[in-house]
Amino acid sequence: MKKNVLALFGALLLCAQAVWAEPILKVEKLADGIFALIGPTGGRLYENYGLNANFGVIDTPDGTILIDSGASAAAARLLETEARKLTGKPVKWVINTGVQDHRWLGNGYFAAQGAEIIALQRTTVSQQKLGRAQIEALSGVLREQLQDTRPTVAERPQPGDSAHLTLAGRTLEIRYFADAHFAGDVVVWLPQEKILFTGDHIYVDRMLGILPESNAETWLAAFDQAIALQPARIVPGHGRVCDVAQAQRETGDYLRFLVSGTRKFAEDMAGVDAAVGALKDAPDFRHLKNFDELHRGNINRAYLRFEAAQ
Ligand SMILES: [Zn+2]
Repeated sequence: MKKNVLALFGALLLCAQAVWAEPILKVEKLADGIFALIGPTGGRLYENYGLNANFGVIDTPDGTILIDSGASAAAARLLETEARKLTGKPVKWVINTGVQDHRWLGNGYFAAQGAEIIALQRTTVSQQKLGRAQIEALSGVLREQLQDTRPTVAERPQPGDSAHLTLAGRTLEIRYFADAHFAGDVVVWLPQEKILFTGDHIYVDRMLGILPESNAETWLAAFDQAIALQPARIVPGHGRVCDVAQAQRETGDYLRFLVSGTRKFAEDMAGVDAAVGALKDAPDFRHLKNFDELHRGNINRAYLRFEAAQ
């Protein structure tokens, strides 16, 4: 009897957890029919479907515009469900802001439903180079969530450095400034509402990551140009919706610190250890989540790129 009561209690607890569990993506309304889906700032996990990033949903009379498609077919399905809750319509267009897995590996899922994938040509070129390796790298974490996930790029990529789109009455601009987190990263700018979806150009609340594919120096140049649009609201690639001041403090100032610091050591050929030793404390940025995991590696990679250019 006692055992049964315990089992019942356990079952109730599980139900309560399921009901109260935090959603993976938090919705923030930015304007009429324009929403940000804010993912967790931690790492890629099976539990979060690799959706540790932000996405955009824009309603139009003809269907939904989705900004970025998630890191797998399963993640794309979850984004589709969230988007439909907000607009009541299927995803008709997917715009890619970049090349990292969570920006585009869900494209194939949406293309199979008849959605049009929209990206600049320079973005698709990088995606094609990295797609297979990205799926391979995710396989240990996302396991069967990657089933039916095939690297799929826009069928008719847009040439040049920008694309002006009018989709069922919504005006959007895709703008490329410089290679950033990855080569071919872009922003999506809504000039009427002054809302900027930055993809991986801007991280707030957490430390950004300089990857082997990243170029801190050109990323900083791209950041400055994105900010020059004077957005009223910024949907960063990672972290909460923010304003220019927070983006400046947590991405722009950090990139500037990293670039000017490591460049000086590389020009003096002082060695990577000296650069790490001098720059590792960075008190202005210590409060950012993942600082301990990422900051030293960021110095390392930024330094090595300058050293290689010497
Ligand atoms: Zn990212």
